[in-house]
Amino acid sequence: MRPQILFPLFASTRDLQGIGPRLEQLLARVAGPRVVDLLWHAPAGLIDRRHRPTIAEAVPGTVATIAVTIEIHYPGRGPRQPYRIHATDKTGALSLVFFHGEEKYLKAQFPIGETRLVSGRLELFNDRLQMTHPDYVASPQDEAKIPALEPVYPSTEGLSPKVMLKAMEGALARLPDLPEWQDAAFIARRRWPRWAEAIRTLHHPQSPGEIGTETPARERLAYDELLANQLALALVRKRQRSLKGRALTGNGKRIAAALKAFPFTLTAGQKTALGEIEADLAAPRRMVRLLQGDVGSGKTVVAALALIRAVEAGTQGALMAPTEILARQHAASCAPLFEAARVRHAILTGREKGRTRAGVLEALAAGDLDVLIGTHAVFSEDVAFRDLGLTVIDEQHRFGVGQRLALAAKAEKPVHLLAMTATPIPRSLALTAYGDMDVSRLTEKPAGRKAVTTRAIPLDRLDEVIDGLRRELKTGARAFWVCPLVEASEDVDWAAAEERFTELQQVFGEAVGLVHGRLKPAEKDAVMAQFKRGERQILVSTTVIEVGVDVPEATVMVIDHAERFGLAQLHQLRGRVGRGDRGGACLLLYSRPLSETAKARLDILRHTDDGFVIAEEDLRLRGAGDVLGTRQSGLPEFRFADLARHGELLQIARDDMRLILERDPELTSDRGTALRTLLYLFDRDEAVRTLRSG
Ligand code: ADP
Ligand code: MG
Repeated sequence: MRPQILFPLFASTRDLQGIGPRLEQLLARVAGPRVVDLLWHAPAGLIDRRHRPTIAEAVPGTVATIAVTIEIHYPGRGPRQPYRIHATDKTGALSLVFFHGEEKYLKAQFPIGETRLVSGRLELFNDRLQMTHPDYVASPQDEAKIPALEPVYPSTEGLSPKVMLKAMEGALARLPDLPEWQDAAFIARRRWPRWAEAIRTLHHPQSPGEIGTETPARERLAYDELLANQLALALVRKRQRSLKGRALTGNGKRIAAALKAFPFTLTAGQKTALGEIEADLAAPRRMVRLLQGDVGSGKTVVAALALIRAVEAGTQGALMAPTEILARQHAASCAPLFEAARVRHAILTGREKGRTRAGVLEALAAGDLDVLIGTHAVFSEDVAFRDLGLTVIDEQHRFGVGQRLALAAKAEKPVHLLAMTATPIPRSLALTAYGDMDVSRLTEKPAGRKAVTTRAIPLDRLDEVIDGLRRELKTGARAFWVCPLVEASEDVDWAAAEERFTELQQVFGEAVGLVHGRLKPAEKDAVMAQFKRGERQILVSTTVIEVGVDVPEATVMVIDHAERFGLAQLHQLRGRVGRGDRGGACLLLYSRPLSETAKARLDILRHTDDGFVIAEEDLRLRGAGDVLGTRQSGLPEFRFADLARHGELLQIARDDMRLILERDPELTSDRGTALRTLLYLFDRDEAVRTLRSG
């Protein structure tokens, strides 16, 4: 159970004074629903109000705090005219301007003849200095009401800085002094503050320099975060290793039949991976294995064979993909192998409804189905297997570490887990994302793969691209044309794709198809199928085709506004072509001018095809939060830790974690208890639950 000392932090922000349902929602949008989320919400900048010029010294365009004498009020005549207050000091005059100002209120706040401190942005209007709606007004006695350094928070419409500050003050007032979970000597050596102190400094920097990420307070918070991450993964991993699993073995007959139906021979990497998986399945403990392999490295067949193995052992299997398109594609590519192995299979996505769905569920529960393929619908509450032995999760990074850990920690029946990812990630990131798993890697590509030539072309040479494409299409080639995310949502995203589609249609007519998030699943599938069959030769799309989609005949990948994509994402997209024996071309269309990092990204891509090299470069260029090009990647999102910069801290956290678990495996010492608090603080409840008295 979460320790009581954390309760005030985990309460809803609605508990804070002045926060009602509306503000609660706005705060949830920018920071999160709980008080602790507010505390994690770091300021993006600072307003320095310490500058106290005279009116003559004041510079328009800057924020200043000025002491003035109130002279005359000019209530606005008519609704469009603002209320003005004429104020002076010994050096000059300043107008205070209020739109929709209420006379009674302003007269009380600015009595004629008195001195007021006003703080706000200065501007020049008709050559006269003015301040519109001062942020702060104080009489000389209570000038302390004006903050010297005011944090500015990332916010959202409808949430004023004042309200944000007030909520934050409320949250800070609840800050408990938590027991220290870090090693005292280590903290002292690093000159790091205690946790509560670090949080306070985060929100109340004493100098503008303290807003950066390299301050002791920030470093401490980053380290806390990394240690919580490493501990949580280690605990879950430890529990998984101690969990009894069921040994799944078989006589190999079905596997052999499936392999006979597979038109290729397995690569050495595929054989090794399959061997590792079979060994895991056969051992009396639960498998938690990640199959890592670049796009096109042939993970699907390994997954299919693993599932067949589970069926050989008399259990059922599930294969979960992140999107419907992928689920259907898996179903299609696994089908020949399953059929050869006499494995009964079905698909279940959000689209299977009513009778169909009921039929699948019934067969599944009765054991008349061996393998279920689908989206996360596979794990809906009403889906019951008769005897699930193995779960395979494709593109597992899409599902998130938290989800995986939660699933793993709560699974009562020892279901074996095989996760797959096509995203090669840097070592440091792998440690924070997959520290709880064993890893198999497919490093080579299936034989017969031709290289993909990659060129970067400015968009103002679009005509040449279209000419080239015309020539290619004449030879029967097929091309993907991917348009970037305009907004961070598939809903808005389609506009750019639609525009390009219309343009290309004018040149290529019926040969062009379009898929985007706005289409109904059935429409999407229809267009995809036409493209696969070659009835359409160009497929314009948003990033829905990003992962996994397999059309061996596609040889050209055009990426529109390539500068807007992340490196890893570009690499993923490029991997969609060159799957057949014709080789392929990838055209990175960019709009000028190209920023330095964008240029670096495109250059790296032109020079290497090694996903792991690309991943390291990506981390270097972008920082960990963005490594996959999107925030929805499911990799742990750190608030304070930045793996591109905090690699050293991560290493220390790993060593620290090992030492901690060696000495105090159940976290029962004083430090251990404090570390439990740390885990709860970072929402790693599932890790605490693995402990004996968790
Ligand atoms: P990914 O790892 O990206 O999921 P897939 O499993 O979709 O890759 O495989 C990509 C393509 O390579 C598929 O068309 C598949 O049939 C083919 N493939 C897989 N294994 C081999 C192999 N051993 N030899 C030749 N082609 C293979
Ligand atoms: Mg795949």
